[in-house]
Amino acid sequence: MKITIIGTGYVGLVTGACLAELGNDVFCLDVDGAKIAMLNSGGIPIHEPGLAEVVARNRAAGRLQFSTDVAASVAHGDLQFIAVGTPPDEDGSADLQYVLAAARSIGRHMTGFKVIIDKSTVPVGTGERVRAALNETIAAGSGATFSVVSNPEFLKEGAAVEDFMRPDRIVIGHDSDSAGLRARALMKKLYAPFNRNHERTYWMDVRSAEFTKYAANAMLATRISFMNELANLADRVGVDIEAVRHGIGSDPRIGHSFLYAGAGYGGSCFPKDVQALERTARSYEQDLLILRAVEAVNDRQKQVLGQKVVASFGEDLRGRHFAVWGLAFKPNTDDMREAPARVLLRQLLERGASVAAFDPVAMAEARRVLELDLDADQFARLRFAATPMDALLEADALVIVTEWKAFRSPDFDAVKARLKRALVFDGRNLFEPAQMAEAGFEYHGIGRSVLTRR
Ligand code: NAD
Repeated sequence: MKITIIGTGYVGLVTGACLAELGNDVFCLDVDGAKIAMLNSGGIPIHEPGLAEVVARNRAAGRLQFSTDVAASVAHGDLQFIAVGTPPDEDGSADLQYVLAAARSIGRHMTGFKVIIDKSTVPVGTGERVRAALNETIAAGSGATFSVVSNPEFLKEGAAVEDFMRPDRIVIGHDSDSAGLRARALMKKLYAPFNRNHERTYWMDVRSAEFTKYAANAMLATRISFMNELANLADRVGVDIEAVRHGIGSDPRIGHSFLYAGAGYGGSCFPKDVQALERTARSYEQDLLILRAVEAVNDRQKQVLGQKVVASFGEDLRGRHFAVWGLAFKPNTDDMREAPARVLLRQLLERGASVAAFDPVAMAEARRVLELDLDADQFARLRFAATPMDALLEADALVIVTEWKAFRSPDFDAVKARLKRALVFDGRNLFEPAQMAEAGFEYHGIGRSVLTRR
C-alpha cells in the first residue's frame, strides 16, 4: 500500500520503517531538513535497537524514502499518518499546532480519497479539529474526500521496533459513515500482517481511541507513582519494597509489570500525557484527583536520590565529587526529555559538588540539554566520563539513575578500588542490599532500608 508518514521522529520513523518492512511503499516527510538529509545519507537521528538495519534494508529496496517535499508526500500516500509532536502547551494541555499544520498541508494538496490517520497522542476531540482543518483548506472543485481515523501508538522507546512489529494491541477509531467504513477497510488491510496469529485490533469510535492512549499512559504512570510512594514509606518502616513487589505482582489481578520503585518516571510521554489528561478533565470541570497525585508524587520522587545524598553528606557539597551512571530517562534510548538524571545533577551541582557522568548512548544528547539546564559554573563541574569505571575515579559515592544492562554486573572490587568511599545510591534497585553489604559497600536503594539496617 502507498503510505505517507508526516513527522519522522521516534514514532514516525519507526512506523514508516516497519510498515516498509512489511512491503508497503512508504514516504516519510519532515519539516526538519537536517534530519531528512541525515536519513538520506544513511544516518539515523535517534538511538533505537534494530532501527538502523530496518531503515537501511528498506531504503535499499526502494520501499522507504525521506523528503521535505509536502506536495509529493500528499500525492504519494492513500493513507496519510500524522506522527508529529504534541508537546505540552503552557497550561499543560497538548499543543496541537503541529498536528493541525500537518492536516492543513494535506488539505491544501489533496485530490481523490485519502485516509488521514492521527498517530500522534492527541486529546479527545482532535479528530474533529483535524477534519475541520482539512475542510478549511481543501480547494473547492478538487474532488478531494477523506475520513479521519485515530490509531494511537503504544510503542516503548528502547524496544520500539519490536513493539511495532509485535504489538499487543492495535487500536483503531473510525467513523461509521461510508467514508469511515472505507477507511476501516483500508486500515484492516494495512494491519492484516499483524493479525495473522490472532486478532489484535480493537475497533472503536475516534474519541474512544484517542482516550484509550491517555488512559493507558495514565494507568502506567499511576502504577509507578504508587510503588514509589510505598517505597518511600518502606524506607521509613523497615520494609523491602522488592519483596513487596513480588508479593503483590504474583496476583494476576495486579501482575508484575510496571511495579518497580525508582527515581521517578520521565520521557516524552508519561509526564505530558498525564498533564494533558488532567487538563482535558479541567476543561470539562472535572478534577482528576488520582492523576494530580500521580504527578505530584513523581515530581517528588525525582528529588529522592539527591535527598539521600544530602542526608549522607549534608547540604553543602562543595569539595565533594560524585560518579553518576545513567543519564537517559530509561535504558536503550538517548532520550533525555524529563529524565530524572537532570534533576539529580542539578541538586548535586547547585550545592557545589563536581560530577563525572557516564551513559552508554545518551552522552551527546545529555551534553546538549544539560548545557541549557545548568549555569556555566555548574556545567564546568560536570565531566562526561569515557567509561563507567572512569567515572568512578576518586568519587565520594556512585549514584545510579538509569538501569542500563551494562551496569548490572560490575566488577565490585574494581568499583570499590576506584571510589574514595564504598558508597552506592541506587535509584533503580539494581543490586541486592545483602550482597552489597557483604561486598563491603554502604548501599542505599529505593525502599530497601530493612536489609541495609541489618
Ligand atoms: P518527535 O519530536 O520525535 O518527532 C516529531 C517530528 O515531527 C519531528 O521530527 C518534527 O520535525 C516533525 N514535524 C513537526 N511538524 C511537522 C509538519 N508539519 N510536517 C512534517 N513534520 C513535522 O516526536 P515523537 O516522540 O515521535 O512523538 C510524536 C507523537 O507520538 C507525539 O504525540 C507523542 O506523544 C506520540 N507518541 C510518542 C511515543 C514515544 O515513545 N516517543 C510513543 C507513543 C506515542
